[in-house]
Amino acid sequence: MKLFRKGSKGKGVKDIQTKLVLLGYNLGLAGADGIFGYCTDSAVKQFQQDRGLVADGIVGEDTWRELVGATYRLGDRLLYLKTPYLRGDDVKQLQKWLNRLGFSTGVVDGIYGPTTEKALMEFQENASLLPDGILGSSTLDIFHNLRKILHADFKVAFPWEEKVEPASSISVFKDLKVMVDFGHGYPPDYGAVGPTGLKESEICEDLGLRFGNLLELLGAEVIYARQRGCCIDLSERANLANEVKANIFLSFHLNGSSNSKAEGTSTYYFAAGDQFSKDGKSLASVIHEELLASLKRPDDRIHGKNFAVLRETKMPAVLMEPVFITNPEEEKLLRDEKFRQTIAIAVFDGVKKFLGIRG
Ligand SMILES: [Zn+2]
Repeated sequence: MKLFRKGSKGKGVKDIQTKLVLLGYNLGLAGADGIFGYCTDSAVKQFQQDRGLVADGIVGEDTWRELVGATYRLGDRLLYLKTPYLRGDDVKQLQKWLNRLGFSTGVVDGIYGPTTEKALMEFQENASLLPDGILGSSTLDIFHNLRKILHADFKVAFPWEEKVEPASSISVFKDLKVMVDFGHGYPPDYGAVGPTGLKESEICEDLGLRFGNLLELLGAEVIYARQRGCCIDLSERANLANEVKANIFLSFHLNGSSNSKAEGTSTYYFAAGDQFSKDGKSLASVIHEELLASLKRPDDRIHGKNFAVLRETKMPAVLMEPVFITNPEEEKLLRDEKFRQTIAIAVFDGVKKFLGIRG
């Protein structure tokens, strides 16, 4: 391929510029004029830097291939295994989603190779689709529905109110029974209350439901320890989990302190004296890691505690305090639906890791 650089002119330059504009790079007032000038040079260098290429401002085969790949969006074309392998951001997007759902594609490299094909086929099988390894419209529809639910624009569904049926039944978690406990319950127990009045018990319900919805989407059975707005005794919550033989017990709380500067993420498992729950501790550590990586709040670490819901439950049990509702900055974050969905997804990813689910 011909090399394009500062001073080049013509249709090839225009093609490069059109792609750069499409990707949101600034070419100045002249736009895609077919002249490789100062603005195009710095846009190409920025693009190369963003994509881990040598930022030399020269468009050769590698940079051109990357430019072409970068403009593909999921659904623009059929994705399947062929030689040479298909490459592009649509493949990268597909790989990210497969990994998130528990179907490992290995590295997210934007190359549709055999491991990506295998992961897609497993996904299709789980979604009761023909496992042909082709990302066409029927598989894509399911992806789009899942994306909606995994993303923040998803409205929380209370199972005892208007239940939104998942668009597909994917059975990754089909043998899993999870007890989700919303901390506190109002009235009379709101838990901690934020500086502008946000209540721990209400936010815990939102977080627990978001998390529960993700699990149900993948075929798990979710049992909620209490109804919306109700308050039940801690031992009752643990007893219920034991009765239904839940595999995992997760209790959503938020931290509170009289010091409004207190901030950060902490996670708890059962410990008393020299006794502690080994599985509880490993579940707490994977969830904690995911929360830290996603929320980027200070690390207040994992702790062994003799809390009733942790002590009296017979399965791995974890209590989470992702942030402090009493800290003005963290309370503000909690008001943001996207942030709450991020918490739910982090906990979901942690559970997935704990279970050793692929990906
Ligand atoms: Zn609490």
